[in-house]
Amino acid sequence: MTTSMTPAAQLAASLHLPTQAMIGGRPVAAASGKTFATINPATGEELAQIADCDSVDVDRAVAAARAAFEGPWGNMSQGDRKRLMLRFATLIDAHATELATIETLEGGKPIDDTANIDLVESIDVIRWHAEAADKVNDLLTPSGPGVVSMIVREPIGVVGVVLPWNFPMLMAAWKLGPILATGNTCVLKPAEQTSITTLRLAELAVEAGIPDGVINVVTGFGPTVGEPLGRHMDVDAVAFTGSTETGRRFLHYSAESNLKEVVLECGGKNPFVVMADADNLDRIADHAATSIFWNGGQNCSSNSRLIVHQAVKDELLELIVEKARDWPVGDPLDPETRIGAMIEADHLAKVLDNITSANDDGAECVLGGQRTLEDSGGYFVEPTIFTNVDPSMRIAKEEVFGPVLSVIDFSQPEDGIRIANDTSYGLAASVFTSDLRTAHLAARAIKAGTVSVNSYAEGDVATPFGGFGLSGFGGRDKSLHAHDQYTQLKTIWIDLG
Ligand code: NAD
Repeated sequence: MTTSMTPAAQLAASLHLPTQAMIGGRPVAAASGKTFATINPATGEELAQIADCDSVDVDRAVAAARAAFEGPWGNMSQGDRKRLMLRFATLIDAHATELATIETLEGGKPIDDTANIDLVESIDVIRWHAEAADKVNDLLTPSGPGVVSMIVREPIGVVGVVLPWNFPMLMAAWKLGPILATGNTCVLKPAEQTSITTLRLAELAVEAGIPDGVINVVTGFGPTVGEPLGRHMDVDAVAFTGSTETGRRFLHYSAESNLKEVVLECGGKNPFVVMADADNLDRIADHAATSIFWNGGQNCSSNSRLIVHQAVKDELLELIVEKARDWPVGDPLDPETRIGAMIEADHLAKVLDNITSANDDGAECVLGGQRTLEDSGGYFVEPTIFTNVDPSMRIAKEEVFGPVLSVIDFSQPEDGIRIANDTSYGLAASVFTSDLRTAHLAARAIKAGTVSVNSYAEGDVATPFGGFGLSGFGGRDKSLHAHDQYTQLKTIWIDLG
């Protein structure tokens, strides 16, 4: 850890950290008056006390969202909504350094990532969807001269948004962009570990002139805030990003309440397949390292399974181990740091438990494998690589959500694809080959919502992101396809006879 104060650390010491829920455009304490501690995962120290809300607060927030939907926001033209969203994006931009610092403090993410990736992409996403708000037309159908038949899209209403901790700002932006652009209002429930960024975002929305009640934030825990939101009779849709286990619950909540629409973006155990003919192993090693070490592997699309042809395995592995040196673990506020802290003590314990299981199952640890920087009080783990991993091992099956790569080798090209598909998840995949035919066939054969060829990539704001199988349900984030889940189709049939 560095001891001198970086500019980000100086800013961190002087920041305004909002801690109350945001309901109807105003910061409010939890109705119960309770609070909970939010921890800086890089130090283990308390950052702030956050409003510990429950179903009473959820009711208040849903009522505020309903009033805004039936009032100013629902009655506003698409062009005016677009202008307000653009003003919101400009304000986020103006506060980008502050927001990046908050996200680093509460999420343990390197400041270089929050400032140069999360914030930049979040602003871009909100602008992109804002621009789309007044450019999507409804349809007339060819139903004969005596009829005017229209298919129109209407906003769905009040959307509950339940967020994870690994990309607090970006996941909020992925949801807010299409939700607002299509005329809905929302109640956001940030992950309990990362409430502050979302609260600050909501303050900026109010400052931008987005009407009170359009964006509400109810802070607290899954069972006390997430569940009441999922079961609420006046919430029309829930957009969730998080683990598959919690995602499933929202389907139950919906079935047992008002059949609200449910969109789930869940976990992954993503394959990175390298064929024998893959070109430029050095470049591939860069992609492999980025894929598993970026955000400390706490990334739903991280390629945690390197499935590599035996012909290139040793050389590639050596290169990846070398590249790992470019991924220093350290103080997230230091701009040189590339791997920050795991989000919390329990999560660190889960990652270390997965490492123990890999050792016990007979995989060979060729890099890392230990907790590090313990003196900081934070939850750091070394970049870790296991080789000789069998697809049946726990380390090859479960989402570790840490900087832990499993290397599995194969000898027949079809085995590479078969092993890639040997998972219940299907979020993202990468395949590396220099043969065009192999690339196309593999891209078609791999079961995943995104397949990137000769890169580790999630696409961009114009491409949909979401998963097959246990990785997702009911819709997509990003792109115009994300507008579908927040609108409902209405047929208007006018008989002219
Ligand atoms: P999580 O499922 O533990 O929590 C997600 C949210 O659900 C949190 O806000 C939490 O408070 C809430 N929640 C927890 N229990 C609940 C309950 N019983 N009822 C209602 N709400 C409840 O997930 P996490 O640990 O915060 O996030 C990590 C997971 O998110 C990983 O599995 C990762 O792959 C996934 N993820 C997916 C994507 C994607 O786009 N597919 C993106 C980012 C993260």
